[in-house]
Amino acid sequence: MTRAKTASPVTVIPGDGIGPDVVDAARRVLDASGPAIEWDVQEAGAAAVASEGTPLPERVVESVRRTGTALKGPLTTSVDTAHGSPNVALREALGLYATIRPCRALDGVGTALAGTDLAIVKMNTEDVYARIGYARGSAATAALRDLVRRDTGHELADDAGVSLKPLSASAARRVVVEAFEHARAHARSRVTVVHKAQLMPETDGLFLEVAREVGEGYPEIALDDELVDTVCERLVSRPAAYDVLVMPRMYGDIVSGVAAAAIGGPGMAPGVNVGDGCAVFEAAHGSAPRLAGRARANPIAVILSGALMLRHLGEREAADRVEAAVAAVARQGATLTYDLQPAGEPASTGEVADAVIAALSSSRP
Ligand code: NAD
Repeated sequence: MTRAKTASPVTVIPGDGIGPDVVDAARRVLDASGPAIEWDVQEAGAAAVASEGTPLPERVVESVRRTGTALKGPLTTSVDTAHGSPNVALREALGLYATIRPCRALDGVGTALAGTDLAIVKMNTEDVYARIGYARGSAATAALRDLVRRDTGHELADDAGVSLKPLSASAARRVVVEAFEHARAHARSRVTVVHKAQLMPETDGLFLEVAREVGEGYPEIALDDELVDTVCERLVSRPAAYDVLVMPRMYGDIVSGVAAAAIGGPGMAPGVNVGDGCAVFEAAHGSAPRLAGRARANPIAVILSGALMLRHLGEREAADRVEAAVAAVARQGATLTYDLQPAGEPASTGEVADAVIAALSSSRP
């Protein structure tokens, strides 16, 4: 007797701005793709600030710890309140140490650069985002100036502010291992380390050294390295040159933006934040306040993030079907949002989801 498969528990965070529109679209597609998912809806962001005084209530973090998997919409970082970024807070609370962002150009997306098919793996911790800073004119900066003069002979300007860039071998190793494991799991043959090691041997040089050590354990995968400026230039001139790119955090944010543009813009780039025992799936884009509540946002990045989530849940066939259905809708070209077909009559967020659901039944990977 075959036993019915139990539903997979997944936390869903609709988010701010366009979040509820695009996340709802993705949920409808994932539900239509077959596997049973038990959604635990957790409001965060502006709605939570209004009702609970914080954009990231503890219940949200607890839910993701319990389910181990989340589909997340974007959360706005409000500049005029005391709350920091709820996105950063969630990553820190869950120990989400790496982001993986596959970027593949789809036929039919006119603004995409043909042949782009790569994955960015970036550190989510440390680097200049560690928020260790010395403000211009502070006593701490004066003490730092003395220390730097004594240890290095360099003279910091009197009016300098300083942001520190810590980068540890252990954090680098986890991310590089993630990159090689991703390459192995997806039959990719090359990992490129993105860096500026000649200028920062203590940090980027360390990252490169760790990558070379880790690479010895993956003899079937080639390892090379390139300067971040070269990578940005080639991503717009010859993106097909790349396979898996691995890098520290800030380069990762910048290179992700360039790579998203190479596949049609922020509405096309999916991703997953990886931690120990949990994974949070979300698009690269933010809450796009300009488009909030207008049902115009492109849901494809979140739908493709959902496909990554299905694969993570062991639902490989459903994931392949969702990706094939999205590719079919792009190829057909009649039902795309404004960002992908600036000349024609744009479809709404919901209409794109409907078209993907219709294509699901006929799509075979
Ligand atoms: P954004 O990604 O929200 O928007 C950048 C541009 O891309 C805008 O022109 C927007 O209209 C367009 N865009 C974004 N997503 C789109 C989609 N799905 N379809 C069509 N067009 C789309 O970046 P921003 O304006 O810098 O940030 C807005 C807010 O989002 C900020 O508060 C920021 O902190 C937050 N944010 C959150 C996350 C996250 O939750 N992980 C990521 C980035 C930014």
